[in-house]
Order: sequence, then structure tokens, then C-alpha cells
Amino acid sequence: MNTALPPNELPPPPADANSAEVIFLGTGTSVGVPALGCRCDVCTSTDPRNQRTRCAIVVRFKHSNLLIDTPPDLRTQLLREDISLIHAVLFTHEHVDHLYGLDDLRLFPFQLGHAMPLYCESHVEARIRRVYDYAFSDRAPTHPGSTPQLEFVRITHDPFNVLGVEVVPIPMVHGPYFNVLGFRIGNFAYCTDTNAIPAESIERLRGVETLVIDALRFRPHPTHFSVDEAIEVIREISPKRAFLTHLCHDIDHAKVDAQLPAGIELAYDGLRLNIDPTS
Ligand SMILES: [Zn+2]
Ligand SMILES: [Zn+2]
Ligand SMILES: [Zn+2]
Repeated sequence: MNTALPPNELPPPPADANSAEVIFLGTGTSVGVPALGCRCDVCTSTDPRNQRTRCAIVVRFKHSNLLIDTPPDLRTQLLREDISLIHAVLFTHEHVDHLYGLDDLRLFPFQLGHAMPLYCESHVEARIRRVYDYAFSDRAPTHPGSTPQLEFVRITHDPFNVLGVEVVPIPMVHGPYFNVLGFRIGNFAYCTDTNAIPAESIERLRGVETLVIDALRFRPHPTHFSVDEAIEVIREISPKRAFLTHLCHDIDHAKVDAQLPAGIELAYDGLRLNIDPTS
């Protein structure tokens, strides 16, 4: 790796004792909403909650910002939410809609003073090394910042620590070919891109107060929960509140949100929630 910057030797910034904010950068399915070329009622809607960029969240601690996934819309999402620095990234999986904005983080290592830490499983690292091969070239950089400065941190199914906070991985199924990770941070869990959560992973979700879960549309789909399937899983876990994400253009925000059971809402771009990362 041709890092012009030293590796991460700084201690992580301290997390605030018991509060953090989750900021939804994007809540849309892989093609986004509006979908290019579509003139349906949702894609032409003037309700801003029907405009969904690709899925990611930031968990904002008192002194640091943890990003989950780097979608293709990342630059505009961070500008929109006025987030000027990311301290570390967690990856759920390596699909294009969760990964192809990684280069947008290129400026942050200058402020951090070290390469951007990327917490991911081995198969995600393998994809990142292929897609962003220029970041791992042996050639000397032409100038500082010419390539992203990236540093991998291997995660498995075991709990790990990032930025001073414990994260519990939630292994999940995402169709026949992909396994993904959800993440639990204190009383909050983020579980996107899944159509099945194994029993052991359900156990890891027991006691969460705020659950974010994939719900693509009403019709069944081979790699995502439908709204009804998501509701079934929410009932099993019984959090205080749940939010549906990774929504496609079949979902009109105002109409669908009004008919969801109590305690379940649609997420939307820009939504902010308070969580307790330590409970
Ligand atoms: Zn996705
Ligand atoms: Zn549409
Ligand atoms: Zn996916």
C-alpha cells in the first residue's frame, strides 16, 4: 500500500457515555428513487421523503463519526447532512450500491492524520482491492491525495471495538449468493440487505430498542424482505421502535407510513434518531 500518511496510531476519540445520533444518509434501493426513466407517482412525487438515495447511515458520537457503507451518492449525502469528517467505515457487504462511493472519502485522511480505517470481512476487502486497485498500486503517488489512503481492519462474526464503542455483528442472509452483516451498537441495530436472519442472529438482536430493517416493497423478492416479512421479524424481536429502509418506488411514504403498525415507521433520507451506544 503506497500510504503517504502514517498508519493509524492515534487513540480513538472517546465516545460519549450514553448518547449518539444516527443520521440516515440514504434509504433507497440499489437504483435509487426516483428511478431513472420512471414516471410513476412515487418517482414524480414532490414529497422529499420519496426521494431516496442509496443506503448508508452515519452514527455520530460526541467526538467522531462512524459511517456504515459508502454508496455511490456519498459525497452529496455528506454535503447535505453537513458532515465534514468521517473517522471510520463499517461495511455490511460489497454490493455496488453500498461500496462505489468509497473514493469520496479521499480527503479525510489529511484531517485524520492517518489512513481511513475500513472495518470489513475478508470477501469485502477482496472486492475493495479489485475495484479500487489504484489505491493499492506499488507505483509511487504523483502527489498527496492522488489515491485514497485506506487501512483494512478485519472483522468476523465476533464483537469488536471501533472508535471506543462495541459493535456486535449480526450475520444475515441476502439471497442465495451473499451473506451480509447487520450491526448492533448498544440499543440500536442496523440490518439492511437481507431476506433471512438466522436464529442465532435473532438472539443477538434481543433487547434492541431501535431496529432498522430492510423492506424493499410489498411483493416478495429473492434477496430482500418484503414489508410484511420485515414486520414479522420486527414482531419477533419486539423493539420499541422500528424503521424500514432500502425502499423502492413501490413505497409511497405518506400512504405506506400511515398504514404501518404502531411502532413501525418508514425511514427517509435525513432522518435522525438518538440512540444509546452503550446499553
Ligand atoms: Zn443494497
Ligand atoms: Zn417509479
Ligand atoms: Zn445488497
